[in-house]
Formats: sequence, C-alpha cells, structure tokens
Amino acid sequence: LGGHPKPQQGPLKPSGVKRILAVGSGKGGVGKSTVSANLAVALTRQGRKVGLLDADIYGPSQPRMMGASGRPASPDGKIIEPLHAHGVTLMSIGFMVDEAKAVVWRGPMLMGALQQMLGQVNWGELDVLIVDLPPGTGDVQLTLCTKAELSGAIVVSTPQDVALLDARKALDMFNTLKTPVLGLIENMSFFACPDCGGEHHIFGHGGVAAEAERLGVPLLGALPIDLETRLAGDNGTPIAAGDGVMAQAYAKMAEGLIR
Ligand code: ADP
Repeated sequence: LGGHPKPQQGPLKPSGVKRILAVGSGKGGVGKSTVSANLAVALTRQGRKVGLLDADIYGPSQPRMMGASGRPASPDGKIIEPLHAHGVTLMSIGFMVDEAKAVVWRGPMLMGALQQMLGQVNWGELDVLIVDLPPGTGDVQLTLCTKAELSGAIVVSTPQDVALLDARKALDMFNTLKTPVLGLIENMSFFACPDCGGEHHIFGHGGVAAEAERLGVPLLGALPIDLETRLAGDNGTPIAAGDGVMAQAYAKMAEGLIR
C-alpha cells in the first residue's frame, strides 16, 4: 500500500473467495467491529475458511480486537500477504498506518486502498470474506456494494432511536444497491444485572425487532451489554473464541449465515 493507490475499474471480488458478507451499521460505536470479529471467529470454529477485511478505514479496530499487529509482507511489491489471527485471514488498513495517527485521505485514495485490500491481498481460498464496513452510507459502502458482488449484508444496531434511525438509512442503501440484507443484529440489547437478576433495557427495547419485521428480514440475534465481550475485544481474543454463553450465541448466529 505504498505510494498513492489509484482506483481501478472492474469487479473487486477476489477469485478464490466464495462469498463476501458485509457488516454495516448506521452509527459508529454500536458494535459492528465486535460482531464482525466474533462472527469471523465463530465461522472459523465451524470449519469454514474465513477472511476478515477491516474496511473501517477511518477507525480500524480489527488489529486490536483480533490481537494482530505487524506490517503485512509484500515480497514482490505487488501482492500483499495478509496476517492470520485465531484462524482468520486478516487485513486492515490499521496494519499500514500508525495506530495513533489519523487517516486523512480524500475519496480517491480511500477507494484505491480499499481496492488494493480486496484485489492485491493474497486471500487464498475462502468460504467467506467478512467485511467490517465503516459506519454510515458513504463511498466505501457504495463501491463495495456495486463492485464487490456482495452475497449479503448484516446490519448491527443498538435499540436506541438515534442508532436505529441511521441503521434504517444503511438498510435503505443496501436495498437500493440490491445487496440482500441477511438480517439485523441488536447489540447492547439489555444488561443482565448480576445483583438483582433483572434485565435492564438501557438503550430501549424492541426497535430492532420491529425494524426486522417491517423489512421482512430475520433478527439474527439480540446480544446483551456484556463486560466479558468488551474485555475480550480489548485483549485481542474475541469472546467467540471461548466457550461461554456469548461464544454460544455467536456460534448460533454464525450457523445460519452460510448455507
Ligand atoms: P463499531 O464497530 O460499531 O464502532 P465496536 O465494535 O468498536 O463498534 O464497539 C464499540 C465499543 O463497545 C468497543 O469498546 C466494544 O468492545 C464495545 N462493545 C461492543 N459490543 C458490546 C457488548 N455487547 N457489550 C459490551 N461492550 C460492547
């Protein structure tokens, strides 16, 4: 990814990749990267060959969440070798830039970087490439949906109205671009209080399920606010790599995703 990547023409799906699934959200901070990493790990544990492309170019979280660091090698200066973590083949713009530095790029450079991460990375043979999209409905999403032959998209939202409002826009974008929406995931759905035993709906209740029903798409899961999930992400070993209830929840969601 040295120099100034230039956008290319033509389709973007790498030849050895059977299907590309995008994980999107309307807003940032709703858990899109957490869900992407955990679904990638859960699918790997089910025997799938999985890649994870962190396309959240302005805020790449996957190096941290997957516990992978280092600069991908490019022995011939053309093909980039991805990294591997928890059995997942991994590529992120975060491997190319300093974690503490902002990526300040205009559209064409951004598109060039995205196209390189799809077209010049040695993804090998994959059952599925999961793409962790940036939040919102911008250039990256548009390019991927129109050029990367996405098999489907998953939209993550919290139940909060402001998150749902933007999630609806993301859903609308996928519909307009004819990318099939495989389902919605409600993240931070509730907090199971260890002290009183009650379920507290901190960000509201029912909105994501209602949206899924309105669109006629499945609600793939409703995941609680969970300290272990957050710690696991921060420590670079997604919770889905373990064997607790959250790992089981991710395994269940992953099962239905690929047929
Ligand atoms: P996004 O990709 O939508 O910006 P992230 O996946 O980076 O969101 O999540 C934002 C923060 O919230 C991270 O610190 C992550 O660990 C935490 N987080 C995500 N999902 C949960 C959850 N279900 N319970 C607790 N913390 C979570």
